[in-house]
Amino acid sequence: PQGEGSSSGTDRELRAPICCILGHVDAGKTKLLDCIRHSNVQGVEAGGITQQIGATYLPVENIRERTSLKAEATIKVPGLLVIDTPGHQSFSNMRLRGSSLCDVAVVVVDITQGLEKQTIESIGLLKRRDVKFVVALNKVDRLYGWKTCPNAPIVKALKSQSDDVQREFKWRVAEVVTQLKECGFNSALYYENKKIKEVVNIVPTSAVSGEGIPDLLLLLVRWVPEIMMEKLTYADTVECTVLEVNEVKEFGTTIDVVLINGALKKGDQIVVCTKQGPVTTSIRHLLTPYPLKELRAKGSYERHEELKAAQGVKIVARGVQHALAGTSLIVVKPGHDLEQAEAAAMQEIDNAINPSNENERGKNEDETEVKEISRIQTCKEGVYVQASSLGTLEAIIEHLKTLSLDVPVSGCNLGPVHKQDVMKATAMLKRKEEYAAILAFDVKVMPEAFELAVESGVKIFVADTVYKLVDSFTDHIKKLKKEKKQQHAAEAVFPCSLKILPNRVYHSKDPIVCDVEVLEGIVKVGTPICVCVPRKNRGAEVVHSLGRISSIKTSNGLEIDSAKKGVVSIKDEMSDGNWHLIRRLKKQLEIA
Ligand code: GDP
Repeated sequence: PQGEGSSSGTDRELRAPICCILGHVDAGKTKLLDCIRHSNVQGVEAGGITQQIGATYLPVENIRERTSLKAEATIKVPGLLVIDTPGHQSFSNMRLRGSSLCDVAVVVVDITQGLEKQTIESIGLLKRRDVKFVVALNKVDRLYGWKTCPNAPIVKALKSQSDDVQREFKWRVAEVVTQLKECGFNSALYYENKKIKEVVNIVPTSAVSGEGIPDLLLLLVRWVPEIMMEKLTYADTVECTVLEVNEVKEFGTTIDVVLINGALKKGDQIVVCTKQGPVTTSIRHLLTPYPLKELRAKGSYERHEELKAAQGVKIVARGVQHALAGTSLIVVKPGHDLEQAEAAAMQEIDNAINPSNENERGKNEDETEVKEISRIQTCKEGVYVQASSLGTLEAIIEHLKTLSLDVPVSGCNLGPVHKQDVMKATAMLKRKEEYAAILAFDVKVMPEAFELAVESGVKIFVADTVYKLVDSFTDHIKKLKKEKKQQHAAEAVFPCSLKILPNRVYHSKDPIVCDVEVLEGIVKVGTPICVCVPRKNRGAEVVHSLGRISSIKTSNGLEIDSAKKGVVSIKDEMSDGNWHLIRRLKKQLEIA
């Protein structure tokens, strides 16, 4: 099928985008799929929706009818292919192998729960694989006092709500926006989003009463071609992923595949991956299920000579019973090199069976994460960050950089905080004490790690949101700075000049006790004092240190900490060697 766009200016032929649904358990993935599949628009029976192999195909006409889109508004793609099984193995394989079965994902979030663990994991995964996504903020009908407006566009449905409901809706959206920010994504309600290429769209929905579902579908078919025109351009080269192997009574062994791009023809020579090696065979039948109403009359499957992307297809072929789910199906066109195709299949098999062999993106998620962690830039001096997922780890590091304090990171890790992590952080105690800290997000701190931290003086900060975590750390830094300032303030010397009053040296040795006049500045307890003695026959003065002031009294005997201009009595902690000096000084002063 060809997109409407091809007849209105561009001569590109676009295929249907392939969409996966992800999210935390109970967020409403299955219900949302049901809602998408069963058009509830009155008078439109099946709405042209076709049930495909492992997927549901929604033609653009169906989406138009459900959204009352004006006739002149063009949609560039012919429809939308939604993968049927949320969290299908093919998607986990995509996760493992890094091959993108889906062009786009819908991340379902329960508005009453916000982002949950699996949601955050899914988002981290999409981020790493660079798969664009929209957020379906589901269960809006659960907001207290919500008035149901079946299948209404969300803006219209919101207008019918009371002020209380609208207020609750706003703060819950704000909460999710903050949580997405913590995962490293800017987001906005899709109808307020001015930067659709950079800012994640949020579509409020109810999978039960259908509010916002038209918005979600329309957004997908209009926004996706805007951001990935190239990827959706129909190509001759076949891109096809195996979903699963099935036995069908009528046909024997079949493989269900998603045809992502290109076309499959009956009789095509194909190579599939099995544990035993590549298997070269040919397509005996290309099947799709009949639309529901024709099921009984004609049997289960319709046979085709040719099928074009994007769609779910059942293939009947010999020798495919061991095909590996998640691997590619390769078509060898007449005149093309079979050996090359088999070598490519071999490479895929190798990667599927021995994850560590995969060079580009490790099949083993942990390995990938280790590699990706090692890519995070660290400095010699900085804090240690520990988080439950790579996504949040990156979000924290990113957030630290944007602070006015500009906190550098010396190391990071995923999973619980162990003793080794604390050991690494202790290195900072000598280098830069304030950075001897671990910022731990959504991870356990093991008891022995905690003990070592207390013993060594490494601070561990734990919080359930990135903001709280970073805030408590910055508060700590500010507190340390203040303490240091106070400490240094005590050591700070305020300049002053004093004059020893004639005949008022009461004790000239250890300690010196005398009356002075403060000529300039402030004299304080602790101020180091010295005398300047002119050298005989030479103009220059010699400075002799007399030690620090240990106490100060006013002329009426009141003990004070500091004194400004005026006459006070000081006691000085003079070292032994200086006592004769004060005598001389006394003499001089007396003479003066
Ligand atoms: P999944 O685990 O993500 O596939 O979640 P389900 O689709 O199975 O939904 C979990 C529960 O939430 C079920 O009881 C659904 O009926 C309910 N549910 C899903 N979506 C909505 C919604 O939009 N509104 C309400 N009120 N309930 C919903």
